[in-house]
Amino acid sequence: MVENPLRNLPSVDQLLNHPQLQKLVGQVSHSAVVQKVRTVLDTVREKVTTAAAEAHVPTPQEIVETVAGWMRKEETQKVQVVVNATGVLLHTGLGRAPLPKAACDRVAALSQRYASVELNLSDGTRGSRTAALQAILCELTGAEAATVVNNNAAATMLALGALAGGREVIVSRGQLVEIGGSYRLPEVMTVAGCRLREVGTTNKTRIDDYARACGSDTGALLRVHPSNYVVYGFSEEATLKSLVQLALEKNVPLIDDIGSGALLDFARLGLGSEPQVKQSVAAGATVTLFSGDKLLGGPQCGIIVGKQEAIKKIAKHPMMRAVRIGKMTMAALQATLELYRDESQAMEAIPLLRLLHTDVANLKLRATRIVEQWRDHPALASARVVETQATMGGGSLPTQQLPSIAVALTGKSLTVDQLSGLFRSATIPVVGRVHDNQFLLDLKTVQPVEDRLLVEALPRTESESKST
Ligand SMILES: *Cc1c(COP(=O)(O)O)cnc(C)c1O
Repeated sequence: MVENPLRNLPSVDQLLNHPQLQKLVGQVSHSAVVQKVRTVLDTVREKVTTAAAEAHVPTPQEIVETVAGWMRKEETQKVQVVVNATGVLLHTGLGRAPLPKAACDRVAALSQRYASVELNLSDGTRGSRTAALQAILCELTGAEAATVVNNNAAATMLALGALAGGREVIVSRGQLVEIGGSYRLPEVMTVAGCRLREVGTTNKTRIDDYARACGSDTGALLRVHPSNYVVYGFSEEATLKSLVQLALEKNVPLIDDIGSGALLDFARLGLGSEPQVKQSVAAGATVTLFSGDKLLGGPQCGIIVGKQEAIKKIAKHPMMRAVRIGKMTMAALQATLELYRDESQAMEAIPLLRLLHTDVANLKLRATRIVEQWRDHPALASARVVETQATMGGGSLPTQQLPSIAVALTGKSLTVDQLSGLFRSATIPVVGRVHDNQFLLDLKTVQPVEDRLLVEALPRTESESKST
């Protein structure tokens, strides 16, 4: 008689007594571990009963390893804090702008309790979700009215649909942008229910091109800031002023998608000239659209400021509900915007602006201290302070190189990719960049309190790593 191979399979309880799984129960949860153990056992039973020849019945240790491996993988898939040492300030993959402390405090305070999200406290009536934000947005930008949605992609779609749905929208061929992923302007236009009317050429579009295209079917003029590319050389675009003028003459709205939405003059920070929200409003755009988590340095959202009537139409659009913001975004945006009431306060308290204006001498000093701690490190062939160039990222200031300092590492036996993987697997993962066969930790994007985490990500000994 053939012995049933499943007789040797350990039970769930036996496996749970294994010290390695006991540890995981403590770290994660009892039910999560039990569920994984059951899944492994079911798979084994299924394989053994359906296999023609004898299938391998795993040992308890093998089962434990499988479960532990799955749980480790799940841990790394969780969203968690990382140190951004890539030198890309608005790294979309790393969540763009880190929020100011005031914003985080406001989120924590407001989200643990009930909040006046849609309540008018003065008369007890149902209020608008964005009324409070509208007041400060108007104060900071000079606009008549404002509303906020989930992101700038949603803002564009909503503005197009509400102001020009079913009609033609005139856009320069030099501004038919792709922002990334599936966001391409011609397709967004279709989804919003508008018909794209391209004018001009890739490098030259004049106000006359727009004027000639205007007709009875024109729903809006759209200007899009080419955030992530530049048309350089023999080129020309119609000015905002002339577009506003034409829109007035033809009695159609002008939608100005400026992308990153600077509330301050970034040119003063030596950062080229990004379109400023205030300028677009002052020039007379019907609505101006921008992101909350690019140069503004706040939470992910799309902000629409402009004329009262147009904002009302947008707020009433049926899609508004699908792209509305939650109370956490309301809290974070409000606290971030309040910091802009005082420019010097904004510069200090908004992490993005602080990182931007930290000077190279400061970065060099910090890099030197980090390199000292890695001198004669057994895993490293070299650790040096190097000059480098950081970038804005997030589709802003594409040609702007920001002078920066990095720590450049090469491994003794580790390749740069292995070194990069080692930093990513630290308790608090560090993300750097590979350049010229070296692993770079660019300090432009590292907050000073995080310097220690860079050092701890590559400890000298096992015990050093355990103690951190
Ligand atoms: C970034 C950008 C968008 C998309 O904004 P999200 O907030 O990422 O949705 C749209 N238009 C322009 C010009 C942009 O730069």
